Amino acid sequence: MNAVIAIHGGAGTITREDLSAAQERDYRAALEHVLLGGQGILERGGSALDAVTEAVFRLEECPLFNAGKGAVFTHAGTHELDASIMDGRSLAAGAVACVKSLRNPILAARRVMEDGRHVLLVGEGAEAFARDAGLETVAPGYYFTEARYAQWRRALAEGRSGLLDHDAQALAARPEAIGARMGTVGAVALDAQGNLAAATSTGGVTDKCVGRVGDSPLIGAGCYANNRSAAVSCTGTGETFIRLLAAYDVGALMEYRGLALADACEIVVMQKLPAIGGLGGLIAVDAQGTVCMPFNSEGMYRGEARAGGARATAIYRPSAAPRAAEEWRPA
Ligand code: ASP
Repeated sequence: MNAVIAIHGGAGTITREDLSAAQERDYRAALEHVLLGGQGILERGGSALDAVTEAVFRLEECPLFNAGKGAVFTHAGTHELDASIMDGRSLAAGAVACVKSLRNPILAARRVMEDGRHVLLVGEGAEAFARDAGLETVAPGYYFTEARYAQWRRALAEGRSGLLDHDAQALAARPEAIGARMGTVGAVALDAQGNLAAATSTGGVTDKCVGRVGDSPLIGAGCYANNRSAAVSCTGTGETFIRLLAAYDVGALMEYRGLALADACEIVVMQKLPAIGGLGGLIAVDAQGTVCMPFNSEGMYRGEARAGGARATAIYRPSAAPRAAEEWRPA
């Protein structure tokens, strides 16, 4: 079996001009570190579920990405995090939303799934559940980063409540927000047993209303896995991904219309999402180990590694065929 993991660190307005060489190096090193964790698990014969959990855990620990440490600010200057995970073998799933004190929301989502009674826990109930499960809690200040703070202050000053991280025009004049632009992290994997899994985690969007929940913790919207079709993790303007059930739709197009993964992804990301103003992308892997990472934004932090193979990372929009682009290079 062709075990493989793919990861993303958010899609949005990011061009080569936006990042200095040093910043690009930092992002690529972070993506490489995340890939290594998931790839190692797959190479040791571990499960896709463990590989995506480890990858998203590492992404949450990295302050460069909008999940865990480094999460964006709500309108009230607080942090509310969402995460989800799904097992393509059994269709078991778990998610948490609007949590404010968990160091790693993805671990709480995994516990919700393993517990099996519920799929989605929110707010205080989710936090109490995670505490009872022995997961680490943190003070609100833990999530703070200068870049996200500056991003939020600017949004407040400009009165752009509800700003999406992906808003190109709004971001164009904000050099201090470099590195703070992208949202959401995720991973998808196929293991040596032929099982698929997907995981997604986010701080949401800058200056969001308190209590707002995006696509990331909603099974079918920002995360989905089914061995019969594909594992999918999304990033982008969450409300549009919810309205389309974007992650589920990829698998549904494959199952109902017999489409290949690449064609299903193309329809969702390049046709259906733009038709309702949706900006962003997704990563997906099917049961044969085919990986697709389409996005309709300027860029998407992303990477891919096969068991026993090279690791590759990319950030910008490919200028030619994705794998042929000079930018897509082994890490
Ligand atoms: N989809 C995420 C949300 O709406 C944000 C992102 O991917 O940047 O919460």
